[in-house]
Amino acid sequence: MNSNDEQHFLSGKRIVIAGAGIGDAIGREGYSLSLRGDPPSEGIQTLQKLGILQEMIDESNPGSYFTLFNYDFSSLMEMRSPPIEGLSQSSIGISRSKLREILLKNVHSSISINWNCAVTSADELDNGQVSINLSNGSKDQCDLLIVADGSNSIIRKCLRPEHVLNFAGAVCITARTHALDQFPAPLDKTWGGAIGGDGHFLFVAPSDRTSAFWSVSYLTDKLRPAKPAGTMMEQEIDEVLDEAKQRTKVFTEPIGTLIKETLRSSVAIFNAKDLVPFRNHGSVIFIGDAQHAMSPFAGNGANMSIMDGYQLADQLVHSKDLNTAIQSYDDLSIPRSTKAIDMSHRSITMGHSQGIWKYMYVGILKVMSWYFGYTSKKIHN
Ligand SMILES: Cc1cc2nc3c(=O)[nH]c(=O)nc-3n(C[C@H](O)[C@H](O)[C@H](O)COP(=O)(O)OP(=O)(O)OC[C@H]3O[C@@H](n4cnc5c(N)ncnc54)[C@H](O)[C@@H]3O)c2cc1C
Repeated sequence: MNSNDEQHFLSGKRIVIAGAGIGDAIGREGYSLSLRGDPPSEGIQTLQKLGILQEMIDESNPGSYFTLFNYDFSSLMEMRSPPIEGLSQSSIGISRSKLREILLKNVHSSISINWNCAVTSADELDNGQVSINLSNGSKDQCDLLIVADGSNSIIRKCLRPEHVLNFAGAVCITARTHALDQFPAPLDKTWGGAIGGDGHFLFVAPSDRTSAFWSVSYLTDKLRPAKPAGTMMEQEIDEVLDEAKQRTKVFTEPIGTLIKETLRSSVAIFNAKDLVPFRNHGSVIFIGDAQHAMSPFAGNGANMSIMDGYQLADQLVHSKDLNTAIQSYDDLSIPRSTKAIDMSHRSITMGHSQGIWKYMYVGILKVMSWYFGYTSKKIHN
């Protein structure tokens, strides 16, 4: 607001937020989230500004840094977010359910959440308002619609159909384990990705405080039918697990143990996809994956979504009008999410590299990490 006498441009307006359920477990059972403080991600600093960082740290998973492993789980390099003044930790891994629980606990009492009530379609009206249809059969109308319904956004398909997801060239087979008595090394200290050197990339991380997540991926130019967790028959799960064993045969422990201890209902197959970030206009603002979906190889989509929510609110409160707020928000969100998506493409290329290329990419990554202030050293197992 510019002066105390002037009414804020949103005063008396009706705002609907579709989605905003970051951390939602549906179809993503066991995928934990790494939240970071290094540029361009500032998920950690944003949680601090929201006053909920310590609660997140208290509930975080074991391990506080990412390691790039060789096929035998010896370390090629450790990547730690640079320390942040005044903060005890500059990155954390947290289970989606804990993240969601803490966010919900801290929702302001003035905000009402309508559960099981998806937006099924939206229409921008001539008077600037937006009409929405809901899954419970009712209709609603609002002055501002904030769209945070994720990468497969139904509202984006409805209102901005020209912005579609692109296949990023990698297919992932993923699952998580049952609760384990203890994490096999190195998951008790760190999480990360291992380069097989034969075209396979393996990602392993605690998914919460007792179970672990694994994902093996490979490059292809063909999309594979996606199989969310819980959608496969017993025989298909056996076949996919056999395929995972084949695809991970160059890697050493802990992957054998993780596959052996896999929770069968968690086995899934998905195609890595992303979306070229686009600018907003009118009375509908897309944020998070709905505006700039990125594949897990970015390790950054949740960081971006958390920052989006905070920065959009900040711009809406402090700008003189809606157009200025939208433009200022896009000026912040688009460059950093573009950077994160570009980095994910480099990670996909490097992670699946073969032969001599693997060592060349690791060398380049080390130079870049030193340049950006990460600590990087070889540890001996
Ligand atoms: C395997 C995997 C690992 C990942 N690891 C990381 C990581 O370590 N770090 C990281 O930063 N990011 C990671 N990501 C990315 C991260 O999960 C996403 O970028 C992030 O969840 C996006 O948040 P969002 O709120 O925009 O969308 P989502 O988290 O997808 O949330 C969308 C919400 O909208 C709701 N919704 C959907 N449709 C509708 C509708 N029509 N009406 C109303 N509500 C609707 C959904 O129920 C959900 O609650 C990972 C992703 C995957 C798949």
